Amino acid sequence: MNWYHRLKLAQFTAENTVNVENSSIQVTPYDPIVDEVKNRILEKDPQFGRGINTVNIVGAGPGFGNVESTNPADINIRLEAIKSEVARQMGLPANTQDPNYAEALKRAIEVVFYHEKGHVTDALRAQEGSPDDQLSGQSLFPGGEPFAERNVPDFQ
Ligand SMILES: [Zn+2]
Repeated sequence: MNWYHRLKLAQFTAENTVNVENSSIQVTPYDPIVDEVKNRILEKDPQFGRGINTVNIVGAGPGFGNVESTNPADINIRLEAIKSEVARQMGLPANTQDPNYAEALKRAIEVVFYHEKGHVTDALRAQEGSPDDQLSGQSLFPGGEPFAERNVPDFQ
């Protein structure tokens, strides 16, 4: 019996931890820009999908995204907050038909993806290390924000 069969947290499964090169990550609700960024990352790094079930586009909340201990295999992205922040920083309306704005938005979404993937990896490692325990809080995310930030590549 493999470790993931014993997990009480069912989010990390064979489907999202083994042979992930063939995994398909859904974006719900579907958004073409978020889906494009996701596919671009997966083309560069097929292992990026390891541990990820779904990318949820969510509404209000803190920051630009998060991963919850109740479902550490899902990445939540606050698309509207990211759109607003990119528009604010560029001094432009949030118009995805503007190529300059769209490119900056995609880059910002990519940064959020890598940061949140850091939290997924942190949780997956912790859970793999304690397959019989239902981890939460700091025991599920021992690396915290520093670990997630280190997962963001230097795009400069
Ligand atoms: Zn974070």
